[in-house]
Amino acid sequence: MGTHFDLLAIGAGSGGLSVVERAAAHGASCAIVEPHELGGTCVNRGCVPKKMMWYGASLAHSLRESVDYGFSLSTGKFDWQRLKTVREAYIEDIRGWYGGSLADAGIEKIEGAAWFTAPHTVVVDNKSYSAEHIVIATGSSPLIPEIPGAELGISSDGFFKLERCPQRVALIGGGYIAVEIACMLKAYGAEVTLILRGSQLLRHFDNMLREVLLEEMLDSGINILSSVQVQRVREAASGEKSLSCNTGLELGGFDLLLWATGRTPNTAGLGLESVGVKTREDGHILTDDYQSTNIPGLYAIGDVTGRYPLTPVAVAAGRRLADRLFGGMPDRHLEYQNIPTVVFSHPPLGSVGLTEAEARERHGRAVKIYQSRFSPMYAVPLEHGRKSAMKLVTVGAEERVVGCHVIGPGADEMLQGFAVALRMGATKADFDDTVAIHPTSAEELVTMR
Ligand SMILES: Cc1cc2nc3c(=O)[nH]c(=O)nc-3n(C[C@H](O)[C@H](O)[C@H](O)COP(=O)(O)OP(=O)(O)OC[C@H]3O[C@@H](n4cnc5c(N)ncnc54)[C@H](O)[C@@H]3O)c2cc1C
Repeated sequence: MGTHFDLLAIGAGSGGLSVVERAAAHGASCAIVEPHELGGTCVNRGCVPKKMMWYGASLAHSLRESVDYGFSLSTGKFDWQRLKTVREAYIEDIRGWYGGSLADAGIEKIEGAAWFTAPHTVVVDNKSYSAEHIVIATGSSPLIPEIPGAELGISSDGFFKLERCPQRVALIGGGYIAVEIACMLKAYGAEVTLILRGSQLLRHFDNMLREVLLEEMLDSGINILSSVQVQRVREAASGEKSLSCNTGLELGGFDLLLWATGRTPNTAGLGLESVGVKTREDGHILTDDYQSTNIPGLYAIGDVTGRYPLTPVAVAAGRRLADRLFGGMPDRHLEYQNIPTVVFSHPPLGSVGLTEAEARERHGRAVKIYQSRFSPMYAVPLEHGRKSAMKLVTVGAEERVVGCHVIGPGADEMLQGFAVALRMGATKADFDDTVAIHPTSAEELVTMR
């Protein structure tokens, strides 16, 4: 095994794997360093297990709703262990597939944690490796607040280790991970209290999405407390957890406490200071438009940079970087605009481009909004209705669509195509000229007045 490479990636998650695979396809000699399982957060503790749990939760909704469609079902008990076993087997397959594809591409896999001893040299398990180009793709980890008793709670990592569905859950956080887990646990039958430090869920999303989601979560029976800060956690001999809050509120009787209070970049222990790589105060690595750090030959991609922490963003940045370094495409880079994203809540929501507030701040009176709130046809027979809402944010006389926001059944699968349209600069007239697909919820986006 060699110890000098054209490119070495630190971290075998979405970003690291993408950059080495693409660089190797361009003929570069590559290595990837990883102390844990291949696949990083997305495969092992993020998108993949989360989506499998979301499918199960969606089925739980469908089973309940099927009664309103005329079915008389006796669903029996839900077997959490079975779903977990199937899910973990699937993840094991993905890891195996990654291992095989690294070997097939001739990419060296180095097991252990890397730290820098010089700008182009890292040490892993007491052995030095060097490369012309080193890509830092070490991702991020859950951030748990430093308050007394915080260790009595788990993070999203712990959620995927649960052996059974908890009965009474306190979930702290208002971001997408908190929202998704709250909706899933509720669907599986847990009693869920979601505690927000601020006043809003999903604060980076369009107002309309937040409002409808809040209504839907409250309707589903999730207890949501806003502007509350947990200050202390205690555990009784029975294992029940209780929370003391800044408002004087005391909450108790929880068998699970889950922190979804943000994530922190995995930069500690990398030795970045010794080579002079600049980071922000919160530890995220500073990069330019081309993913370059301030040190020549050192790059950072993915969650560790703090820019749109999503798998496809890490993948796109990694592939473009490899194309630029080895594929003869000197200007190839990821533009961090019009990045579509979905929250797998119940119902799901999706967003691409500017929110209404962002557009108004940037374009003032040139902004025109089209929106629609309706009950999807699926909900007609249901005792507890479902809501959908859609918004197009347009700018200028030509009404270029700069934002598209959707919540409701199917929103998750709907948005990808509209993201292509936005990227191509579609106008409202282009949307209107597109023949609708009937009867769907998506047709609302091409028929809005
Ligand atoms: C619960 C949850 C749900 C999510 N759902 C979605 C979703 O639905 N859609 C979506 O797009 N994104 C989702 N994400 C985000 C997504 O998982 C991340 O954006 C993505 O994994 C980032 O990839 P990355 O390569 O930057 O880091 P990671 O995938 O975290 O990989 C980093 C790797 O670096 C390794 N590492 C760390 N330090 C060192 C070191 N010193 N030496 C060597 N290796 C090291 C780590 O072990 C890890 O394997 C979710 C995240 C979470 C937590």
